[in-house]
Amino acid sequence: MTSQLAADRASRLRARAAALFPGGVNSPVRAFTAVGREPVVLERGAGAYVWDADDRRYLDCIGGWGPAILGHADPRVVEAVRAAALGGFALGASHPLEVELGEAIRQAMPSLERMRFTSSGTEAAMSAVRVARAATGRELIVKFAGAYHGHADGLLVEAGSGVATLAIPGSAGVPEAVAGRTIVLPFNDPAAVSLAFAEHPGRIAGVIVEPIVANAGVIPPRPGFLEHLRQATSDAGSLVIFDEVITGFRLGPGGAQERYAIRPDLTVLGKIIGGGMPIGAYGGRADLMALVAPSGPVYQAGTLSGHPLSMAAGIATLQALTPDAYAALEAAGVDLARGLAEAARSAGRAVAIGRVGSLLTVFFRPTPPVDAAEALASDREAYARFFGAMLDRGVLLPPSQFEAWFLSLAHGRTEIDRLVEAAAEAFRA
Ligand code: PMP
Repeated sequence: MTSQLAADRASRLRARAAALFPGGVNSPVRAFTAVGREPVVLERGAGAYVWDADDRRYLDCIGGWGPAILGHADPRVVEAVRAAALGGFALGASHPLEVELGEAIRQAMPSLERMRFTSSGTEAAMSAVRVARAATGRELIVKFAGAYHGHADGLLVEAGSGVATLAIPGSAGVPEAVAGRTIVLPFNDPAAVSLAFAEHPGRIAGVIVEPIVANAGVIPPRPGFLEHLRQATSDAGSLVIFDEVITGFRLGPGGAQERYAIRPDLTVLGKIIGGGMPIGAYGGRADLMALVAPSGPVYQAGTLSGHPLSMAAGIATLQALTPDAYAALEAAGVDLARGLAEAARSAGRAVAIGRVGSLLTVFFRPTPPVDAAEALASDREAYARFFGAMLDRGVLLPPSQFEAWFLSLAHGRTEIDRLVEAAAEAFRA
């Protein structure tokens, strides 16, 4: 009786949430719309595992959508947040921890000569675009289909992540005039980039790019593509903005810009730098960031920006990300990808794995996609069935074909083996 009551808690919470929040959730992907299952209500996490409101345990591959790179509730982060909380949360002025985190970020990513903390990646991307427009005196922005840069009006056009999951082209409520200032190009297509610059001479303020697309599923850049972006923007007096909200501190301390040896003009960060607390940051060339208020005319602000708890969690997280940690993350990614590919092969399933470091997507299509159009051509129903079969085996995958799996340092040998075993059964089922 007691256990029956307990087992109903998640459903009761879902019903109450449905009466409060659109779709019952506070961020669309949590509704599990694309996979046809009841959404999980997660109550706590520890290491590589999460527990729902009925105390069911799942091996987690969502990782809070990126920040939980050490695993959930890492004791070092918990302690740092606890210590910071004792000093008050929102003091509304400059704080020593901002300086500490800012310096740690700049040391790892030298292209961020100056930066500004925000409370989300959305704000950071929106602000970076504003700086690019102010710096160049131009209005047009280039983005790539399937990339997600948060939900600022001009960046929702043909966006990835939840926008792709819900199969909608953008968003209602975005004025035509705003959407019309965004040019959307296919990722990994240098000719399309050159053509856009040729068609709009002197009018493109900047190109914003996820250097590794993670919001259409994981799609690495083809050799030379990011180099072409760097060159084409420089030649046109335009800026290149790397959105490293996901890749920053995930692939290594210097993010994708270090891995591919490209120095962007501006960079957008989030997720890991806040260790799971709300955060975003944008930064780059000192001359560009000097345009931001109060040193310049570009207004941008935030009541909770540089929040001490976010700073404390971020500092503790970055400190734990040693070279050994990155080597372990890479090894976990390699092992998992190999195991999954083998499991699919022996089950006779045609899947392709997109992977960079500890970011990975199993695409239900025969070859890894090079752009969003190819990713969208994956068999979503097959993914939904796979997701359900994994969930039934106690594994929580991203509830969409178009999101990355995020591994953490808490995903050890046991967890990788378990994931592969569950997948082998799920592929057969
Ligand atoms: N940019 C990228 C690449 C992202 O993946 C996300 C969120 N997943 C954002 C921006 C927006 O960040 P936030 O959700 O913190 O607003």
